[in-house]
Amino acid sequence: MKSVQFLAVLASLLASINAGAQTIVVDDDDSAFTSQLGGGVVILMYHGLDDDTGGFYEPSFQPQMQYLKDNNFNTITMNHLVSWITTGAPPLPTKPIVLTFDDDYITVYTTAYPVLKNLGFVGTGYAHTNFVGLPPGPSTSYDHADWTELQEMETDGTIVTESHTMTHPHLSQISDAQETTEITGSKAAIEANLLNKVCRHLAYPFGDYDADTITKVQDAGYLSAVTTQAGLNTRSTPVYELLRYGVNPNDSSNPVLTLSSTFLNAANAGQSGVWNFSSANTPFVGSGYRYAPAGTGASVATWTFTPTQSGSWQVSARWTTSSNRADNSPYTINHNGGSTTVRVNQKINNGVYQNLGTYQFTSGTPYAITLNNDANGLVIADALKFDFIGPSGVKGWMLY
Ligand SMILES: [Zn+2]
Repeated sequence: MKSVQFLAVLASLLASINAGAQTIVVDDDDSAFTSQLGGGVVILMYHGLDDDTGGFYEPSFQPQMQYLKDNNFNTITMNHLVSWITTGAPPLPTKPIVLTFDDDYITVYTTAYPVLKNLGFVGTGYAHTNFVGLPPGPSTSYDHADWTELQEMETDGTIVTESHTMTHPHLSQISDAQETTEITGSKAAIEANLLNKVCRHLAYPFGDYDADTITKVQDAGYLSAVTTQAGLNTRSTPVYELLRYGVNPNDSSNPVLTLSSTFLNAANAGQSGVWNFSSANTPFVGSGYRYAPAGTGASVATWTFTPTQSGSWQVSARWTTSSNRADNSPYTINHNGGSTTVRVNQKINNGVYQNLGTYQFTSGTPYAITLNNDANGLVIADALKFDFIGPSGVKGWMLY
């Protein structure tokens, strides 16, 4: 998300907060989330759910879906997404999300299907049709759902099957004739094996395609195709180049797509000692920020964070910069592991959330995050942001 857009959203979110209020206002309502994403839709890309086929662990999947449910996400079909992109209708629900599963691994049937069905969620599976029903053997190391299993998921609409070609080739690297066969043959196989099925969507194997591939996909009668490029889908996103976030729990170096944020600004902070209010330096959140002169720590701003989910949260802070700021302003975060103080340089990083670390919190418990003036210049209390990273003990929920 572009920071300008992000700030505009924040400003509107927080505009109604009374600067003098001591109550905690948590801006994590559903409409706020949707506007944070600029009206874009997240498509999640899963593969298999066991260790081998997805780098994933099956016990993680149910808590992830439960998290989406508890936080009011609404799964939508690929048909719905594409119709919305091309015509604007039907309108999207709040917090829309699309679940996709590539490669027809058996765990999509054995693990994902019952979880989604139980929660009333829907998803799309992309199958390379020559591998449907294949057990581990000479041509594959993994077990794949068969047509009977795909039909069962199709019949109740929980996970519908779309095309991932026939043999999973790099489409841009094979002959024209082969490419056409892969694209049309997989569609025909799905329609021949599933009752009353019209296959309308495709996933490019390896995310590999070129302009000619798109033409062939379009000519074959597909309405959309998904890539492996990360990003949000808006009404401007080409329907044959839809963007997806891959879910990979084992790679913590990748940026995290934040599905939940909570914001607390200066107006939410209790205070003791000397604090002044200002809006002289921009940008800030809400109607301004507070500042305290250098001292011995007697001036304390205290935000209270009451998480809605138990688990890991990334805590970030922002401030407005000036040469008179402290370069050692101390934030203290109380968390399940104790109390951690992080000193930051408030002469730099104007108006941008800076990471104060990731901590464990328990749902419903209030935690104090403080900033005091035991520092060598002005300390600035503007806003804090809390991003939910994942449930405790669950390996995964890193999105890239
Ligand atoms: Zn694949």
